[in-house]
Amino acid sequence: MAKPKLGIFSLTGCGGDQLMILNMENELLDLLSYFEIKDFQEGSSYHEDVELDIALVEGSVSTETDLKRLKEIREKSKTLIALGDCAIGGCVQAMRNGQMSMAERMKKVYGVEEDYYDVLEPKGLSAHVKVDLEIPGCPIEKTEIFRAITSLLHGDLPETIDYPVCVECKLNGYPCVLVEKGMPCLGPLTTAGCDARCPGLGLDCIGCRGPIPDEANAAAELDVLLEKGYDEKYIINRLRFFGGNFEDIQKLTKKISERRNKTEGNE
Ligand code: SF4
Ligand code: SF4
Repeated sequence: MAKPKLGIFSLTGCGGDQLMILNMENELLDLLSYFEIKDFQEGSSYHEDVELDIALVEGSVSTETDLKRLKEIREKSKTLIALGDCAIGGCVQAMRNGQMSMAERMKKVYGVEEDYYDVLEPKGLSAHVKVDLEIPGCPIEKTEIFRAITSLLHGDLPETIDYPVCVECKLNGYPCVLVEKGMPCLGPLTTAGCDARCPGLGLDCIGCRGPIPDEANAAAELDVLLEKGYDEKYIINRLRFFGGNFEDIQKLTKKISERRNKTEGNE
């Protein structure tokens, strides 16, 4: 039987997800031997421009160049997988969305009028093309990519996670750092899959696996953290760090900034 053809690509991001694939030292060679690798930007300079069975794409669509590349990859791939938070929701880059144009930002930061970048508002892949599977993380977990690749070899897609980090905390019997230490933990709205790594170390979750799609309740998290004495702006920025493009967080940000503008206008 012919081996499936695989391509691994990067758009705008740090390259950390490809690095996690390379970090699978014990399984990598066995696993990759089941595929014909046609592109693996971080792993090899070899490249062949052919039709693919599976494309793994990390990074956000943040430039016109990214968008063109993504469309080309989608066109030639049967299955397209978004790898990591940048490819799912734009990640940290998306914090600037809805704030000001790049030209205004260049002016504000550097005092220059140039607008020479081909930038777009950073978004995940699904904002532009059909995506068959999303694997969250900043970066992804090795176990998850391993599970996804082995499922694909069997012709299936792996199960997706739709519950929060808090569930993994409970399963591990970790004390809740939000309740017991008053730390600003984002576990209640963050997609599980890391085995509650940070609370397990006595740290608060900063939400690096992104909000649970269609389930995250940002308003409830805001209320809880306000009650704990955290500043509203701090909480919103914390939510937007990995969730700038998520609808619930965008709505909350908009509501708060409209309320602030109104209050300032009345002063
Ligand atoms: S420590 Fe954080 S993730 Fe764990 S149960 Fe508490 S709020 Fe949830
Ligand atoms: S606990 Fe939160 S911040 Fe820590 S690895 Fe998991 S999702 Fe990321």
